[in-house]
Amino acid sequence: MNMRRMLILGLLLLTQFMAGCAVNKTDIQGFNLISVAEEKDLGDKFAVEIEKQYTVVNDPELQGYVERVGRRLLTGARSVDFPYTFKVVLDDSVNAFAIPGGHTYVNTGLIKMADSEAEMAAVMAHEINHVVARHGTRQMTQEYGYSLVLQLVLGQNPGLLAQLASQMFGKAGMMSYSRSMESQADYLGVETMYKAGYNPEGMLTFFTKLDSKSASNPSQLARFFSSHPLTAERIQEVRSEIGQLPPKSWQPGDPAEFKRIRAKVSKLVAPPAKPATGTK
Ligand SMILES: [Zn+2]
Repeated sequence: MNMRRMLILGLLLLTQFMAGCAVNKTDIQGFNLISVAEEKDLGDKFAVEIEKQYTVVNDPELQGYVERVGRRLLTGARSVDFPYTFKVVLDDSVNAFAIPGGHTYVNTGLIKMADSEAEMAAVMAHEINHVVARHGTRQMTQEYGYSLVLQLVLGQNPGLLAQLASQMFGKAGMMSYSRSMESQADYLGVETMYKAGYNPEGMLTFFTKLDSKSASNPSQLARFFSSHPLTAERIQEVRSEIGQLPPKSWQPGDPAEFKRIRAKVSKLVAPPAKPATGTK
C-alpha cells in the first residue's frame, strides 16, 4: 500500500467513525479506495463466478430486450464509468442485481411480476445506481477491509473470490447495503428513469404492489426484501421525489412487446426460489 492510500485509509476510517457511514443521496462521489479500473477488474472476476451459479437465459430476443432497456436507462445515469452488461437469469425470485463494474442481472421472477416495461426498468434503474454510486466496492471495503479487497482485485485469492461472490451476490445470499445506500439508489433511480423518458411512477406502482403481495407470497419475495427492505418511509420518499419533478411526456416502450416478452419468460422453467439466507 503506498503512502497516499495509507493516508486516505486513515482519513476514511476517521470520517466513518465520525459520520457513521452516512451517504448523502445527491452525492455520488463518496470515498472509495478502489479505483474505477480495479473495480472493473474485480467485477469481471465476480461475473465469471456469478454466471457459474445462475443460469443465464440463452434467448437472443430476451437478452436483447433487457440490454436495450438497460442501455436506455444508462442515458439517464449521472455517470457511466463501467462497460455495463445486462443479462436475464433463470430465477423466479423477484429481483435484479448489479455487481461492481456494472454487470447487471434481471431475474425471470422480476419480469413475471412486472406489469409494464417501466416497472421492470424501475428495479433495473435502482440497481444501476448502486453501481453508479459504487456502493458495492464501498460496502465491501467497509465489511472486509481494503487490503482483502485489493487481494481479490489482484487475483491473489481465487478461493475467497468465489466464496464472496457467492455470499454477496450469488444464490446463497444477497449483498446487504446500508439503508442510506438503498435510499440513494431509489433517489437516483427515479432521476435516471425520468431523464431516460420512463415514467418514474413505475417504481412507485411496483414497490406498492410488492408491498401488498409480500403478505400472501413471502418466500418468493423474501430475497427482494432482504436485499432491499421496503419500508413505508422508502415508498413515501419515492412518492415525494416524483411529486417534485416537472411534468414530462413519456416513452413507455411498446406494451405489446412487453407482454410478448413476459409470456416467453413465463414458459421458462426456473429452479425453485430459495429463501433468503445470510441477511442482516
Ligand atoms: Zn438496492
